[in-house]
Amino acid sequence: MTVFIHKESERRPDEASYDHIIPAGEGWMRDLRPGQVLRIVDLEGNQAADTLFYDTENPEDHYSAVQTIAGQQNIYLTTGSVLRAESGKPLLTIVADTCGRHDTLGGACSAQSNTVRYAHETLPMHNCRDTFMLQLAKRGDGYTKRDLAPNINFFMNVPVTPEGGLTFADGVSAPGRYVEMRAETSATALISNCPQLNNPCNAYNPTPVRVLIWES
Ligand SMILES: [Zn+2]
Repeated sequence: MTVFIHKESERRPDEASYDHIIPAGEGWMRDLRPGQVLRIVDLEGNQAADTLFYDTENPEDHYSAVQTIAGQQNIYLTTGSVLRAESGKPLLTIVADTCGRHDTLGGACSAQSNTVRYAHETLPMHNCRDTFMLQLAKRGDGYTKRDLAPNINFFMNVPVTPEGGLTFADGVSAPGRYVEMRAETSATALISNCPQLNNPCNAYNPTPVRVLIWES
């Protein structure tokens, strides 16, 4: 059964300590202190925000889809989901969500996946894996491609068929929908605001997302 859990937040944007727009196709990386709350807003609807998290003190302990899915026994993320690291440590908890469901299985687009899913001519197209790599390289601190792992696709709709197949479907998000999560430890967030032009998840039209941070 498919459950969508919509929960609004009482936090006000004018009280955020950080407010930033990630343009379509761009990346973003930032540290969160324990207790800080990160909101990602799908400004125009049906955008995919490919996201990874790291334990800031121990970046090798990155977000784990397997630990997260096994921990909550559900493949979709929504309010109440605990985002776990490889060690099982809780990194963040989703505390509000007006989209209602986010993908854990679809992964990030890459030059390779684009050619497999779409056409060989897509090989040189900008993709999320390149955006992640660029952000990790700019960060330094020993982050390398080893630190890329299967990521969360916020706002992306990848329903699983009764036969167990993955389908990249129309987005379930809409303009202004958001997901909000509280850091349970010092956590580093890495976002690729997906530049994908071949996929109905973002209506073939990448758009900006907004990130806000509150102190609690
Ligand atoms: Zn992508």
